[in-house]
Amino acid sequence: MANQSFQAFTFQATHLYAENVTASSLAERFGTPLYVYSRAAIEQNWDAFNQHLPAPHRTCYAVKANSNLAILQLLALKGAGFDVVSGGEIARVLKAGGRADSIVFSGVAKSKAEIEYALEVGILQFNVESLAELERISAIAQQRKQQARISLRVNPDVDARTHPYIATGLEANKFGIPMRDALAAFSKANQLPGLQVVGVDCHIGSQLTELTPFLDAMDRMLRLIDELAAQGIDITHLDMGGGLGVQYEDEQPPAVGDYIQAMLAKLADYPQLALYLEPGRAIVANAGILLTRVEYIKASQKKDFVIVDAGMNDMLRPSLYQAYHRVENTVQGKPLITKPVDVVGPVCETGDFLAQGRALAAEEGDVLAVFGAGAYGFAMSSNYNTRVRPAEVMVDGDAAYLIREREELEQLWQHERLADFKC
Ligand SMILES: *Cc1c(COP(=O)(O)O)cnc(C)c1O
Repeated sequence: MANQSFQAFTFQATHLYAENVTASSLAERFGTPLYVYSRAAIEQNWDAFNQHLPAPHRTCYAVKANSNLAILQLLALKGAGFDVVSGGEIARVLKAGGRADSIVFSGVAKSKAEIEYALEVGILQFNVESLAELERISAIAQQRKQQARISLRVNPDVDARTHPYIATGLEANKFGIPMRDALAAFSKANQLPGLQVVGVDCHIGSQLTELTPFLDAMDRMLRLIDELAAQGIDITHLDMGGGLGVQYEDEQPPAVGDYIQAMLAKLADYPQLALYLEPGRAIVANAGILLTRVEYIKASQKKDFVIVDAGMNDMLRPSLYQAYHRVENTVQGKPLITKPVDVVGPVCETGDFLAQGRALAAEEGDVLAVFGAGAYGFAMSSNYNTRVRPAEVMVDGDAAYLIREREELEQLWQHERLADFKC
């Protein structure tokens, strides 16, 4: 289980290490809150996909999970493809040294400017989510005298059995074209000028811990590909999106190899089809932790509050999805707080918590580690409550690289202007 068994963050004697560096020394050197990533863990997670998905198959890292330039750089050096959801993410990939022709562009609301930019730099393909978008891309490509390679995102209507906010494959979701409209959409795409239809794609949700929904969705997509072939529309690749889950608590998601082999087995009768995957979380979630310092311990009747310097603006997942993240003191051996504790942040919201009802040993000044913070952690951070966002560090063996400086207060209002009131 390559996606779970590698542990970049382990306790040796009483201290938590990130590869060969203690978490407490990182907190001392770079301050808190601090995101810490392991280069080896990211590479290992990437290799697990890549090794099972040789060309012409392709792995496109979903940039939105963690878009730090150094992480994109690391993956670009490994020859990764990229799945992006905005023009901004295309620009990041290029800035980090990624190849334009390795980019697939997903998202329901691509603007004219984003489509023009994508055509200008020459991305691999657009994953198109509606008929209106097809027409828009066709018109822009035609104007530019270019062919846009497109894939149509079809909603296979399978239940991913995950949190409702991250289930995307049901008909009730805003994503993709409903399966029953798919044939008509493809024949329209085939007739529109400026478009080259190459693929079918879907993305049924995130943090999936079972294979069945992926395989059910794939069966439906293959049936569609058969129907398209009967109409003379030849599809050369099938993009099954991302969504493979990771272990945050006691989930047992399938191993990367099992997940990919089960899908490849279905392609036995389709020698012309390349399989594309778009993993985000599975590449970076367990390759990152968030370090946060205890400011106060506040007792109350039923439970105690461990108040830390990281809040929901730094790490939104617990507040937004009631997500579980393991929280540990980076130095073991302190006495356990006798009551269950909530680990809460400084933000003025009751929903501002990182963990609830835990057993934890902690004192004022201690540094805690929030595990599984590499995906949708920094990427979803904000400046709510006029809080600067944390610094990010990548550890590589004994070395630690600062890959994002902590923001400074002045930067938070640099785009604001005092009004020139007349009286
Ligand atoms: C978010 C997203 C992904 C990545 O999902 P993970 O659960 O992080 O693997 C892949 N493809 C699309 C289209 C997405 O929106």
